[in-house]
Amino acid sequence: MFQKVLIANRGEVALRILRACREMGIATVAVHSTADASAMHVRLADESVCIGPPKASESYLNPVAILAAAEITGADAIHPGYGFLSENADFAQMVEEHGFTFIGPSPEHIRLMGDKIVAKATAKELGIPTVPGSDGPVSNEAQAIELAHAIGFPVLIKAVAGGGGRGMTVVRAPEQLAESMRMARTEAQAGFGDDRVYVEKFLERPRHIEIQIVGDGKGNVVHLGERDCSLQRRHQKLVEEAPSPVIDAATRERMGSLVANALKKLGYRSLGTVEFLYEDGQFYFIEMNTRLQVEHPVTELVTGIDLVREQIAIAAGNRLSFAQKDVRFQGHAIEVRINAEDPRTLMPSPGKVTTYHAPGGPGVRMDSALYAGYTVPPFYDSLIAKLIVHDVDRAACIRRLERCLDEVVIDGIPSSVPLHQAIFATDDVRSGEFDTGWLGRFLAGWS
Ligand code: ADP
Repeated sequence: MFQKVLIANRGEVALRILRACREMGIATVAVHSTADASAMHVRLADESVCIGPPKASESYLNPVAILAAAEITGADAIHPGYGFLSENADFAQMVEEHGFTFIGPSPEHIRLMGDKIVAKATAKELGIPTVPGSDGPVSNEAQAIELAHAIGFPVLIKAVAGGGGRGMTVVRAPEQLAESMRMARTEAQAGFGDDRVYVEKFLERPRHIEIQIVGDGKGNVVHLGERDCSLQRRHQKLVEEAPSPVIDAATRERMGSLVANALKKLGYRSLGTVEFLYEDGQFYFIEMNTRLQVEHPVTELVTGIDLVREQIAIAAGNRLSFAQKDVRFQGHAIEVRINAEDPRTLMPSPGKVTTYHAPGGPGVRMDSALYAGYTVPPFYDSLIAKLIVHDVDRAACIRRLERCLDEVVIDGIPSSVPLHQAIFATDDVRSGEFDTGWLGRFLAGWS
């Protein structure tokens, strides 16, 4: 096992990794920007190293600074968390070339899935159903028009290098296609440094269903069921749950084993999530994430498996500690993302948290790096806490969630707590009837 792990991240995920390390008897190194000198992950780590100024590109996204910190502190492995450098294949490769272990998949697998076109082609080859669309990048308008007519409008133009819900344009009518293509390419070049785009059928009312898998790179890949992440705004997840209200045990088993077997063929190592859109009983692959995900706790609560611990143990060369037959799903779990933002305008709202009180009691988990007196800096993602609750079934889980939302105190800055209260007061969400567009429509009418 590792002696010392460097955590190349911040916020709640840095704490999540730190906690797993502590319980495994592994020493931790926190890295931080000057803006995060008093952050909780820095306070709790065994050692810390300042790696640069507030701007992420000069700190959390700076491979050289992170490798230097690992070298100075004598860490044996680097955990990238999510976001930042977690899906940067070049970084993973640099980490290994410098003699450290990257706690994640092989650089080859990160690269394979990081290019959305290659990922989709790979999925197709492995027998996973994909969204109808172009098989490769679309470079000219004539090609796009021909394709759009073949698959039918509306279509979605997607940036090959897109991510985080950005780089997608819906086109509803043929006459808009040429102009939308030009704009999408310009935006993709500016946003991701890659102007390649591809075309996909735009599904009108899908649900977002994703399958969690874990592999040990030694031939074992197990699936841990699905998460339903259909409550999104601007293609970004806000609420996640497991199991999905629309997936039955037989479907879970069928899709889970399809995905697990596909990744077994690849010899996949570490955690991974295969994301699908689900409409009219059909699954369509959209992408694979080769990292720990924000919403991993809901899977932990329904399976009782510590995903981060498993991920670290596998990176250290261990085999999976359980087999598919050992995985049992129990009860229901929901996660709500609490952001430092105005619940109505959704504008980021950094600033000082004057009072902080986390909910507690049975089946409650609050993953957060907040404390009273902490100032949320304006430079990073606005996620400040994840409230995750578990109970015997979905109805009980919602009651528990509402109880917890009433208990949370985050004073000093606005947060998404009132939005979550409003979402869970609706009949649609209570009955589980929503698609990826539901939250956008709800927000448009919420006052
Ligand atoms: P990103 O990498 O930016 O997260 P994804 O491909 O994972 O992009 O898609 C994010 C979200 O965008 C999906 O959960 C879904 O809501 C929406 N989306 C993506 N592709 C389609 C599609 N073909 N039709 C309808 N919605 C889509």
